Amino acid sequence: MLHIVLYIIISAACFLLLKEFFTQRLSSKTAELDRLFIENARLFKDRGELEAQISGLNKEFTQTLELYEMTKDICKSLDEEKVFNIFRRNLEKHIAATDCRYIKNSAEMVKYNDYTVMSLDSSENQPIGYLACNNVSEADKDKLAILAQQLLIGLRRAVLYQKVSELAITDTLTQIYSRRYFLERFNEELRRSRNNKLRLCFLLADIDNFKQYNDRYGHLVGDGILRQVSKTIRDTIRQIDFIGRYGGEELSIILSETDREQANFAAERIRQAVASDVIKVYDEKLKVTVSIGVSAFPENAGHPNDLIEKADQALYQAKATGKNKVCFSPA
Ligand code: GH3
Ligand code: MG
Ligand code: MG
Repeated sequence: MLHIVLYIIISAACFLLLKEFFTQRLSSKTAELDRLFIENARLFKDRGELEAQISGLNKEFTQTLELYEMTKDICKSLDEEKVFNIFRRNLEKHIAATDCRYIKNSAEMVKYNDYTVMSLDSSENQPIGYLACNNVSEADKDKLAILAQQLLIGLRRAVLYQKVSELAITDTLTQIYSRRYFLERFNEELRRSRNNKLRLCFLLADIDNFKQYNDRYGHLVGDGILRQVSKTIRDTIRQIDFIGRYGGEELSIILSETDREQANFAAERIRQAVASDVIKVYDEKLKVTVSIGVSAFPENAGHPNDLIEKADQALYQAKATGKNKVCFSPA
């Protein structure tokens, strides 16, 4: 009997001990499970945030790439108008606007009251100009401000190039004197001629039908023609004479210590040299002619501007009477 009682007591004690043991194990496992649940929820939230960040970065990266491509495109030209046209083409890909303009004169801004206007501020006191776009949505305005900065980069380059070109002694395309430097030299030469009682002749040469060459063969070929004609004339005149690029395809030449008769001879030689030259540009072999107007110091005028005007009138005469010829301002 005692054995049976002892057995029951020991069994009950074992049961209680085992229950306590498993209860404790269970509660620690439950706590562990709760902790894992919380950790999992936190990781899930972090993952969501990271995914959002990655998509934001991807978007920013794509936008940066697009901006880079746009800036690269804009910087292909050094001409203000062309820069703006390239910008406008790019802008259409980014925002919807019905009319975009580049306005240089602030007085004109009154016409664009309804437009969204961005001031294109250079580092100097005055803005380079203004970008005015019509019907830009509120959401697109910030984007437009960023894009306007890319336009500004291109315009700054173009304006700077223009300034440097104006200051340069030689014209970058033709390697003859720039207009500004030529006019300086013209003034000096005229002063020297006046002081020393020397004669001088001024020639204005213009390529005939040049626009047709540009239209038919493209501007790059046109540039090549201009370069070659400038070289031919420079090689034809003497060391003491000088040649400059007066305008687009107009070249100005000063024949020092030269009277009308000698100038006629020199101008004819220039005309013939150009006419007989075979110009090789890219794959083309071309021939061009020039018309030349001549004025003489002191017969026609005593001031550079007046001599230029007289030569221009004579050039007009040469164009009107058949081109590829030399005409003199009447004495
Ligand atoms: P004309 O015989 O009456 O002189 O006719 P033209 O076609 O030569 O004269 P026009 O004034 O109508 O055209 C001159 C052209 O020269 C227009 C312009 O595009 C071009 N031009 C001006 N500067 C440059 C330049 O630097 N490069 C090129 N390729 N073309 C130029
Ligand atoms: Mg011309
Ligand atoms: Mg011409």
